[in-house]
Amino acid sequence: ALTMIRILSGASFKAAGGLLKDIQSRQLHGTYDIAVVGAGIVGLATARELILRHPSLSFVLLEKEKELSLHQSGHNSGVIHSGIYYTPGSLKARLCVRGATLAYEYCEKKGLPYKRCGKLIVAVEQEEIPRLKALYERGMKNNVRDLTIVDGKGIRDREPYCRGIMALDSPYTGIVDWRMVALSYGTDFKEAGGTVVTEYEVNDISMIKESPAGSTEGNNFCIITFSQGNELRCRYVLTCGGLYSDRLSQISGCSREPRIVPFRGDYLVLKPEKNYLVKGNIYPVPDPRFPFLGVHFTPRMDGSIWLGPNAVLAFKREGYKVYDFSAQDFADALLFRGPTGVRAQALDRDGNLVDDFVFDGGVGDVGSRVLHVRNAPSPAATSSLAIAEMIADEVENRFTL
Ligand SMILES: Cc1cc2nc3c(=O)[nH]c(=O)nc-3n(C[C@H](O)[C@H](O)[C@H](O)COP(=O)(O)OP(=O)(O)OC[C@H]3O[C@@H](n4cnc5c(N)ncnc54)[C@H](O)[C@@H]3O)c2cc1C
Repeated sequence: ALTMIRILSGASFKAAGGLLKDIQSRQLHGTYDIAVVGAGIVGLATARELILRHPSLSFVLLEKEKELSLHQSGHNSGVIHSGIYYTPGSLKARLCVRGATLAYEYCEKKGLPYKRCGKLIVAVEQEEIPRLKALYERGMKNNVRDLTIVDGKGIRDREPYCRGIMALDSPYTGIVDWRMVALSYGTDFKEAGGTVVTEYEVNDISMIKESPAGSTEGNNFCIITFSQGNELRCRYVLTCGGLYSDRLSQISGCSREPRIVPFRGDYLVLKPEKNYLVKGNIYPVPDPRFPFLGVHFTPRMDGSIWLGPNAVLAFKREGYKVYDFSAQDFADALLFRGPTGVRAQALDRDGNLVDDFVFDGGVGDVGSRVLHVRNAPSPAATSSLAIAEMIADEVENRFTL
């Protein structure tokens, strides 16, 4: 199929602010070795890692939006997490700690702005102290750098307008514009010879019936069909669909579990004249009844201070307005008995929250040629370069590259 597709040039990624202006229409050549679906930070980091390891293979990155990383990767707290919270030995713990180091090194190397402004997790009630100490132990097991416990005076020394009785001090925690980082991964990918196409929504992944002309590989090709009706051939597919990861898995014939249930997180912004009140990230001690880190103060790279996010069931997966509504997404959300008041990411068949990152493939012709990133919630931005290393290893193991 001849497919006219919009291609982003490397130069367009580079011009921050004027990002993506330089969009050209070109023709996609018929067949690629690997197609990556979804140009969020996980898809971009992984496409970059794969092409750097395998420069002789042909790669295409497919994104349904007009621009890259408009969804989770462009709407987050912007924190470089240090790895405190996660179960020791979990993927989250390992990949966050390694990912934070790689992220700092990457930003340094590329000249991307970041601030290592630190973070306090503050206990304000006596009953929170055992949980704070347990978090400290967990952080130490995860090899989080420079973690200490400070008292009320230590809190005031670091955050003069913050009051608490005890806090975990994580000076290694930082902030960055994750979308800018994601776009920089895209530049690397493009410069290494990868093709990035936008406004192409994947709506089917199947096996090709007959072998492409000139191919010596028989019919070992997947065929990706776009919502416009046109198609693309490739040997292997990696999906990094964020809020649509379950649907991408399902259209390739793989399991739809775990499903994604979308929760909206709203932020408040401090009035600029009050910005002096907050220096670094200030978080509460997480409430064990909820799986998220809690509403927190976060300084942004532009100097503003955000407070949030809350967690409200969203009626639409990519709905950023309070009244955004999609009957299908809403129905999906109601299919699960999620714990009350919890911002969902992926939920398993029994309605339990899937805490860790999940990457899996399937069985059969298509399933054995596809790898899905199923659950990549926070801290997947921090972990993106480490996730990319792990997925690239997995792609090399599963597929004969
Ligand atoms: C409120 C909030 C705060 C957060 N704060 C932090 C933080 O401070 N630090 C941190 O490390 N992490 C944070 N995270 C987590 C982090 O932002 C995400 O884990 C990360 O961005 C996930 O990246 P992704 O590439 O998997 O998904 P996304 O960024 O959502 O990308 C998925 C892409 O796939 C595309 N796509 C989907 N379906 C198709 C299709 N059929 N065809 C083509 N393209 C498709 C989408 O358009 C999208 O561009 C936060 C997340 C949220 C929601």
